[in-house]
Amino acid sequence: MAKKNTGNEKYCVFCGRSENEVPLLLQGLDSAICSDCVKLCYDYVSNMEKAVSPAPEKISKLMKPKEIKEYLDQYVIGQDRAKKLLSVAVYNHYKRINNNLVSSESDGLEIEKSNILMVGPTGTGKTLMAKTIAKLLEVPFTIVDATVLTEAGYVGEDVESILSRLLQEADYNVKLAERGIVFIDEIDKIARKSDNPSITRDVSGEGVQQALLKLLEGSVVNVPPKGGRKHPEQDFVHVNTQNILFICGGAFEGIERRIAQRLNTQVIGYGSVNRKQIDKENLLSYVSAQDLRSYGLIPEIIGRLPVVTYLDQLDRAALLRILTEPKNAIIRQYEKMFELDGLKLEIEPGVLDLIVDTAIENRLGARGLRSICEKIMTDAMYEAPSSRKKTFELTLEYAKSRLTDTE
Ligand code: ADP
Repeated sequence: MAKKNTGNEKYCVFCGRSENEVPLLLQGLDSAICSDCVKLCYDYVSNMEKAVSPAPEKISKLMKPKEIKEYLDQYVIGQDRAKKLLSVAVYNHYKRINNNLVSSESDGLEIEKSNILMVGPTGTGKTLMAKTIAKLLEVPFTIVDATVLTEAGYVGEDVESILSRLLQEADYNVKLAERGIVFIDEIDKIARKSDNPSITRDVSGEGVQQALLKLLEGSVVNVPPKGGRKHPEQDFVHVNTQNILFICGGAFEGIERRIAQRLNTQVIGYGSVNRKQIDKENLLSYVSAQDLRSYGLIPEIIGRLPVVTYLDQLDRAALLRILTEPKNAIIRQYEKMFELDGLKLEIEPGVLDLIVDTAIENRLGARGLRSICEKIMTDAMYEAPSSRKKTFELTLEYAKSRLTDTE
């Protein structure tokens, strides 16, 4: 029961606590409310709104494939083919949802969804692309690492945990989660280990693929809401995966050998590639369902990933562009950080080349660029804010000295 204001003392009319007992008291015309009660009311109203109003049935920000690709161009360097393919696949997926062509209850024509598989070396932009598209469309997005998944009942995460995370991203709004995007990384690591004559069950390989299949093909899955199976008292949430777009990525190391083998034996017949025309430097571009199968993905999973694309290894020129061109390029981020301290960052020619050369040496692709920059910049970021200068000159000599410093 709320206490009444007496004298000059002010109280929250909701919880009755006085000004001294609450973090902040907000004064109204003739009464006051504390910040704790404001937060409680906000949560209550949001939950009520979610329960009452159905989630938006459609994706309001559906853009045309060309517009999606143009947006991707601002963040992802190169990979034109993959960007184009992804833009079309994502556009079709959400067009299908927006036009209610997702179930046979409409006019009888049911358009099946097209999950996507991206094959390409690590650090070439697979995750970045999926993340950027989710941001553009404002749909819930989650990334899972296939290597942590195991068949239900074994040590590791059950595949249902993927949906728990998506739910969390959607703020527990099931309708929104059901239109989200899931990026499954390192799908190649759950390839069937058939060559291995072990008598134990393949619980982290084929077993997981079988479990994933259920999600990919679209079904209603019972999802433990928060904290997995540790809280058996919690009710399961039913999530329909029919409209969740799954994008899988993997490096599929060594698949080129299988592609080459296939291309060598398949020189005649429909759809065959002329042996002379084969670009040996770019074998990944010929990747087919057959190669994925021989690599160890089960045919059912391949069937549920009808859109297959590949990413190019990033060359020197691409890495240089990645440093400065994308909207949130690493160098731009440093410039901004210095600017906030009133400093202008000036970079001597040659420093960017040094960063790229080091990344190539370390064989980490674009993934290595940030850690190299951090190594060069840490001391400068430490000193610069206390200096009285207006510019910080990043010389080649300084950058080299930071990289060779073993401290
Ligand atoms: P993966 O292909 O292994 O999923 P990521 O997408 O996670 O690689 O890339 C790691 C980081 O490298 C990204 O966060 C981004 O900063 C950078 N990067 C990788 N590829 C590109 C690219 N094509 N364009 C711009 N940045 C890239």
